[in-house]
Amino acid sequence: MGPQQDSAVTAFLEPRAWEGCFYDGKWRPASNRFESCSPSTGKLLAHLGTTSKSELAQAIAVAGKAQLNWARQPIAARAEVMRRAAELLALHSEELAGWLVREGGSIRPKAAFEIQSAVDELHHAAGLITHSEGQVISSPDPDRLSFSRRLPIGIVGVITPWNVPLLLAMRSVAPALVLGNAVVLKPDPHTSVSGGIALARLFEMAGLPEGVFCMTPGGAEVGEALVEAPGVRMITFTGSTHVGRRVGELAGRNLKRVALELGGNSPMLVLDDCDIKKAVAAGAFGSFHHQGQICMATSRHIVSRAIADQYVELLVQKARSLAVGDPELSDVALGPLINSRQRDRAHDIVTRSIAAGAEIATGGKYNALFYEPTVLTGVTPGMAAFDDEIFAPVAPIIVAEDDEHALELAAATPYGLAAAIQTGDIGRGLRLARRLRVGMIHINDQTIVDLPQAPMGGMGQSGNGSRFGSLSSWEDFTEWQWLTASSSPALYP
Ligand code: NAD
Repeated sequence: MGPQQDSAVTAFLEPRAWEGCFYDGKWRPASNRFESCSPSTGKLLAHLGTTSKSELAQAIAVAGKAQLNWARQPIAARAEVMRRAAELLALHSEELAGWLVREGGSIRPKAAFEIQSAVDELHHAAGLITHSEGQVISSPDPDRLSFSRRLPIGIVGVITPWNVPLLLAMRSVAPALVLGNAVVLKPDPHTSVSGGIALARLFEMAGLPEGVFCMTPGGAEVGEALVEAPGVRMITFTGSTHVGRRVGELAGRNLKRVALELGGNSPMLVLDDCDIKKAVAAGAFGSFHHQGQICMATSRHIVSRAIADQYVELLVQKARSLAVGDPELSDVALGPLINSRQRDRAHDIVTRSIAAGAEIATGGKYNALFYEPTVLTGVTPGMAAFDDEIFAPVAPIIVAEDDEHALELAAATPYGLAAAIQTGDIGRGLRLARRLRVGMIHINDQTIVDLPQAPMGGMGQSGNGSRFGSLSSWEDFTEWQWLTASSSPALYP
């Protein structure tokens, strides 16, 4: 079956049969509702449902039954659903991009990148079927077949943040589904349409059997109920380190597998032999893309003293050239922050760092939720702008005396998500990269790089060791079973 054509082009998220609903293979009215508003204008976008505990239990029961049949489908048939979903997502990309812009404050290029990456995740998930499902194990009895194979876990609960809502959901949902699990997704309330309802519509249209994918909108209470629900055997959580710790505790108490992808404070080392103009352009993208609200954002620019003044001068020029405003109205480089709580938190970090001795080279001001791209100089360990994840368009500059000092500064936070090194000498970059305890590192790039076929995840307080993408999906979303079989009964005295 190919993707639905013509009439379906207008029938992806319109008409809004999903308003006020949760999804368990059918759209069902939720008992409570909340309003979703645009961060740019404050305008009402949709009335959304908040799933009650009994509605969540209902969805989990439906998912449990559906998973048994889904796991029995040939894996090639499951992969085919992923390919259909990929085609449909590409077909409806314009409509979905509009929601990413309105709901999440994405600029158009970020929305387009996110949708394409989600399409790639679906294709990559379909490709997982080409890998072996297990291994033959040598047996003391040559007539006894002994092998191990991977079985689906059952129901996987997926909890996601608002900053990259479609992609961060898809990178768990697609591999979990294709490997035979059912999924219950709880999106963040800020982006329930682009990070929740859109996925439900997509799998509904792609012909996924009813109940294999459920979507239960709501906030922290729904998240905690999902983590504690007895029928859910695994949780993947992407969000803040603070909430991740709570999710990890609850999952541990219930003896569930849990994959935690958490906050970051990622350094970019700018060495004295780098191409400085390219390093500045990369650093600006790393700090200001999506208003700095990316887990892998370039959070600290650690710059060799010899080039620090020139680097700051060029970065300030670049920051001042970037337009900030409503991405729905014009082609700005930065849209709004997600809400006033995030803005006030970030501004407090900037204000406290200045009180501690840092200086503003540019920015540091805001209008409504629009925060100016900001460059802070004189930042040192112990200042909030060094120690904390800012999650706003702020580029702290830290001066390093030499490579050892740069490494020491890079390692001076408990996070370990991503890092980057700008250098003209790849050997120097590789030597330093080995000594950085981070999950992802890029030489002559910035820190935000995403690929479905790469193992994505963090070390330290950025995660608990799980990885998205690549063959790690087999590790994450299945579990081993050892099986032996003999043609005649084993003999015992
Ligand atoms: P958050 O932790 O506040 O919320 C994330 C999700 O958890 C939301 O769906 C929220 O409703 C839910 N939630 C909140 N409290 C919960 C609870 N007690 N139990 C269960 N679920 C609960 O994060 P945020 O502010 O929405 O997102 C920003 C954070 O996410 C940043 O720290 C960022 O670095 C991190 N992040 C990490 C990655 C990664 O891959 N490592 C990717 C994107 C974002």
